[in-house]
Amino acid sequence: MDEYDVIIVGSGPAGLTAALYSGRQNFKTLVLEKALVGGMGSIVPLLENYPGFELIAGKQLVDIMKDQALKYAEIKDRENVEEIEIKGDSIKIGTDKSEYITKTVILATGAKHRQLGVPGEDKFLGRGVAYCAMCDGPIFVGRKVLVVGGGNSAVQQALYLDNIGVMVALVHRRDELRAEGYLQDELEKRDIPVFWDSEVEEIRGLQVVESVLLHNKKTGKKDEIPTDGVFIAVGEIPSNQLAKKLDLDLDQHGYVITDKAQRTNVSRIYAAGDITGGVNQWVVACSEGAVAALSAYQDIQIGK
Ligand code: NAP
Repeated sequence: MDEYDVIIVGSGPAGLTAALYSGRQNFKTLVLEKALVGGMGSIVPLLENYPGFELIAGKQLVDIMKDQALKYAEIKDRENVEEIEIKGDSIKIGTDKSEYITKTVILATGAKHRQLGVPGEDKFLGRGVAYCAMCDGPIFVGRKVLVVGGGNSAVQQALYLDNIGVMVALVHRRDELRAEGYLQDELEKRDIPVFWDSEVEEIRGLQVVESVLLHNKKTGKKDEIPTDGVFIAVGEIPSNQLAKKLDLDLDQHGYVITDKAQRTNVSRIYAAGDITGGVNQWVVACSEGAVAALSAYQDIQIGK
C-alpha cells in the first residue's frame, strides 16, 4: 500500500494550493479527485478578482494551478475516496480503485449545486435544465433562457449568457439581489430583465423545456413564461459526506468547523475551501489550502 505524508481530498483551488505547499515541504503528497481536476473552479466563467490576473477563466486558472502543483505532488483524478479510517498514528484511505496510508488528510471536498426541488427539474436535466452557463450556455445561443437566483453566481451566469448571445432574463424570489454591486450595475446597464418576487413552481415541457410556471409572491399571480432553458444558480450545499464519517464538527449548514490553522476537531484532519463555508472566494480557498498544508507540516514535525 502506497504511503504518503499528506493526502488531499478534492482538487479545487484549495486542494491544489494545499498540494503545492505540502509538496514544497518535501512531503510526499497525493491529491485524490473523484471527478476532473478543478472542481467547481473549472466552471467559473471569468474571474476579475483573483490577484495577479485582471481577467482569467476559471478553467485556465485551474490548468495553471494544476501544472504548478504537479511539480511537487501526485494528482489522481476520477478516483473517489470512500473511506477514511484513523488507525493510531496512520490514516487509511480507501478509494473505489485503491488503498493508501497517510499521516494527515486535508479535506477540500467543496460544495455542490443546490437544487430548486420543483417538478420538472430532474426530468429536464440536460434537456433545458442546467446548472452551469459556461458548460451548457453555447447550446442556447439565439434562444431564450431564464436564470434562477439572486446571488453572485446567478448574475454572473446571466451576464455570461448575455455575452455569448443568449436571450436571458433573471428570476429572483425577492425584490433585491444578493449579488455584489458591480454585478448588479452590469445587469442594469445591459437591460437584462428581472422577474422580481418570483418563485419557480414548475418547469414544463414535453421532450425538452418549453416553459416555466412562475408565482409572484407579492401579487399572488401565476404566469407561464415560455423559455428554452432554465439555469439554476440558487447556492450550494457542502460536500460533507467524508466529514460526517470522520465525526468532524459541522456548523448548522453542514460546513466543517476549523480553527484559524484549518485544523478540525479531529487530530491530523484539516479542512480548506468551500467545505468550510464562508465567502467562497477563490483567493480564500487558496489561502485556506496553504494554511492547512502548513499546519499539517507543523503537526507532523512535532509528531502531534
Ligand atoms: P448565494 O450567494 O447563496 O445565493 C443564492 C441565491 O439563490 C440567493 O439569491 C437566494 O435567494 C437564492 N435561492 C436560494 N434558494 C432558493 C430557492 N429554493 N429558490 C429560489 N431562490 C433561491 O449562492 P451563489 O451565488 O451560488 O454563491 C455562493 C457563494 O460563492 C457566495 O458566497 C458568493 O458570494 C460566492 N461567489 C462569489 C463570486 C465572485 O465573483 N465573487 C462568484 C460566484 C459565487 P435569497 O437572496 O432570497 O436568499
